[in-house]
Amino acid sequence: MVERSVTYLNNIKLDSLKGFGEKRYSSLKKSNLSSIADLLRFFPKKHIDRSKIKKIVEINDSDIDKEVTMIGNISKVSVFTTRSRLRITTLSISDNSGNVKAKWFGPQYIESRFKEGDDVALSGKPDIKKTGSIEFKNPTIEKFADIEELNETGSLIPIYPKIDGISSAVIRKALKEVLQIVNSPKDEFLPGIKDVIPQKILQKYSKISRTESFQAIHFPKNIKEYNLAKDRLALDEFLYLRSIFENLKSEFKNKNKGPIYKFNDIDINNFISELPFKLTNSQINSYQEILEDLTNTFPMKRLLQGDVGSGKTVVAAIAVYAVVKSGFQVAFMAPTEVLAEQHLKSISEFLKYSDIDIYFLSSSVKDRDNVLESISTGKPGLYIGTHALIQEKVLFSNLGLVIIDEQQRFGVDQRKKLITDSDIVPDQLVMTATPIPRTTALSIYGDLDISSINELPPGRKEIISYLFNGLKGDSNLVFDKCKEHLNQNSQIFVVCPYIDESENSDIQAAEIVYKEYKEKFEDKNVALLHGKMHYEEKEKIMNDMTEYKIDILVSTVVIEVGIDIPNASLMVIESAERFGLNQLHQLRGRVGRGEKQSECIFHITKKKSLSTISEDGKKRLEAIVELSDGFKLSEIDLEIRGEGKVTGKNQSGRSDLKIADLRYDYNLLLESKKIHEEINGTDESIEIFQEAKLLFPNYFAAEGTT
Ligand code: ADP
Ligand code: MG
Repeated sequence: MVERSVTYLNNIKLDSLKGFGEKRYSSLKKSNLSSIADLLRFFPKKHIDRSKIKKIVEINDSDIDKEVTMIGNISKVSVFTTRSRLRITTLSISDNSGNVKAKWFGPQYIESRFKEGDDVALSGKPDIKKTGSIEFKNPTIEKFADIEELNETGSLIPIYPKIDGISSAVIRKALKEVLQIVNSPKDEFLPGIKDVIPQKILQKYSKISRTESFQAIHFPKNIKEYNLAKDRLALDEFLYLRSIFENLKSEFKNKNKGPIYKFNDIDINNFISELPFKLTNSQINSYQEILEDLTNTFPMKRLLQGDVGSGKTVVAAIAVYAVVKSGFQVAFMAPTEVLAEQHLKSISEFLKYSDIDIYFLSSSVKDRDNVLESISTGKPGLYIGTHALIQEKVLFSNLGLVIIDEQQRFGVDQRKKLITDSDIVPDQLVMTATPIPRTTALSIYGDLDISSINELPPGRKEIISYLFNGLKGDSNLVFDKCKEHLNQNSQIFVVCPYIDESENSDIQAAEIVYKEYKEKFEDKNVALLHGKMHYEEKEKIMNDMTEYKIDILVSTVVIEVGIDIPNASLMVIESAERFGLNQLHQLRGRVGRGEKQSECIFHITKKKSLSTISEDGKKRLEAIVELSDGFKLSEIDLEIRGEGKVTGKNQSGRSDLKIADLRYDYNLLLESKKIHEEINGTDESIEIFQEAKLLFPNYFAAEGTT
């Protein structure tokens, strides 16, 4: 005799429940609920605490800003459209002690779901007018067909996300039936839901059983019980993730053969000892992890992450050295031409005592034939470039390693496209400078192993950040700051407003800013750089900048990524409120790379100030001036933008996680890792993977890349 497994419950369709006819069943299916397992995992969005229900007469000033629940009867429904076309629906609700008004703003069609005479539960924050009348704005409202139902439910009543045509009451009833079914013995089944974590481990980590969790997530006796259930069910979701990624990884390793190299430690150590600086500990750990991967028989898939300026390039250079020395080709891709050139420059510097050939390929390189021939004849060497490297005509015949400086611009899709005509799958190193919160990294890069550089090279001074308004006085302060830096023979970056997707409008904006600075600093060399300039022109400007021939470099966001000019000590970001938080952080990271004290000015658009820009813009600017830690900023960025966007195109917001939150449940994520290791290889771990495949289909869609 066994308990029913989730896999088994996933096969029982919801139309087998009492009262679930075709119509209801099809509404449920539209919301991705088709089986009993789905329904059990349809978690309530909140619970109404019956012990906290107030009579209207009891609601007073002390309840303002607190959530209050009341139960009453609808006495009137009215809809009103303002002249500005705002739709306002008002319900008057009364109990035997008084009455309140509830208002909804916008097209929510409350009036089609509620009518005079309905009994409802209302929760929200009350507004108490001077006259004493009480109003709720956009409260949660629930119909109770039969108020008596409340008495059966216990003190916490679950309220479910809205599904067309199906009220929370129907869901509650169905769930009670489901829980009743799974808790009764029948045929070969024992009561309860089969667990995937052995009793011993549950005890060790103080987790409650699955059966208890599903009961308590819906119908908890108290908040504590609810929280335990939530913790356990979120753990299961992390186990699913872990299991999927581990399986994808081992499948990849079993299916694919990687290149075999013949570099030796002595060579590598010599190379490292000739570098112009001592590596930081994180750099050492990272390069060792990479070299170890390279010596494996299966291909590497590794993410190297580290904040701006943490020194990822040199780590990549060590890998390049090892691979090319073994007679293979390395393709090194950057998202923009300017950045590709920067890499060319700095890696050439690191490799200058070696005899490694370095080639550059971008869409504007003239003498492409020579490079293309070396690529296709399999000539060992380092091939640096942009997207041009992954175009159809480019066919590597001896590719050992692909390095992708991702900067969050390449997606999974592009990673796939690099073409080779060999059976050997090249090793892959993805670098990202947009520090990804560890938790999010798992969801985006779950199929990659991760190395982190979590310290900056020694001697870096923290960059001082300023926030200036766009009002006249403040704009003069920006120029004063520029003068200070110019007087110390420092160079300045000025980044221009990001206007919209079209680069042309960015360039126009940049030209205006450029003129302004040119007039203000007549005796200085002010230059303009933008993406549409000719290759040679850009290259000349970059060279002039490195050779201190330019004092102020005004540019569009093309310089956002990678540029390394140690003598630049001031960064001015114009219309800073228009930029994303990560972008602001990247831009600020362009300075602070030399000995001088660096500063960064976040300058709001002309005539605007912190109080007249958007709420999100304000939050971003406040965060960026306060914090210098890229990881924290990324986390805040996620909060401001809301979830979803981080998962890339294929999944676009359709995460399978229903209860675990990658942003907040980090400790649970770590626990899941340990637990997964403890049960790895057992029947339970196979069962987890089975369940994961059923319940987390989206991860397979997006992550199955090679
Ligand atoms: P990022 O991780 O942003 O790509 P870079 O690789 O461009 O950072 O490195 C930033 C700067 O720090 C470069 O000028 C690089 O030469 C320098 N650098 C890297 N590692 C060290 C180190 N261990 N000690 C001193 N300087 C270093
Ligand atoms: Mg870099």
